[in-house]
Amino acid sequence: MRRVIVRRSPVHGKGVFAMRPLAAGERVLEYKGEITAWRDALRRHRREGVAGHTFLFGLSDGRVIDGSRGGNSARWLNHACTPNCETIEDGGRIFIYTLRPVDSGEELFIDYLLAIDDAGDEEARAQYGCACASPECRRSMLAVAA
Ligand SMILES: [Zn+2]
Repeated sequence: MRRVIVRRSPVHGKGVFAMRPLAAGERVLEYKGEITAWRDALRRHRREGVAGHTFLFGLSDGRVIDGSRGGNSARWLNHACTPNCETIEDGGRIFIYTLRPVDSGEELFIDYLLAIDDAGDEEARAQYGCACASPECRRSMLAVAA
């Protein structure tokens, strides 16, 4: 039985929802897509008019997985500041795991923890604003600067 389905999200655009109850620590999805350099992905998205940032997942080596190319339903995961899923990098691949038990029909969220070159850029900050319902919302999808 399928674990998840993509449908319209009350939070933003499309979202990923559990089709059955999920246990904590369950591997739900792999974040698939073309692996490329940040710069190339951003340039391409700008050129093609893709609402880019939410389809890019950063790898620890500085490259990104571009979910808009050869991506799967994981690219529709929405951001939340207190998510119910986490992302774990394993051998250059990204897997989505549940952090806690999830009910059937619940939307799955990850913390994007986006890192951008210039975090002081006001325009970028606005573009990556967060309005999730969490009381701990930090108003941004960007990683907190160390
Ligand atoms: Zn938030």
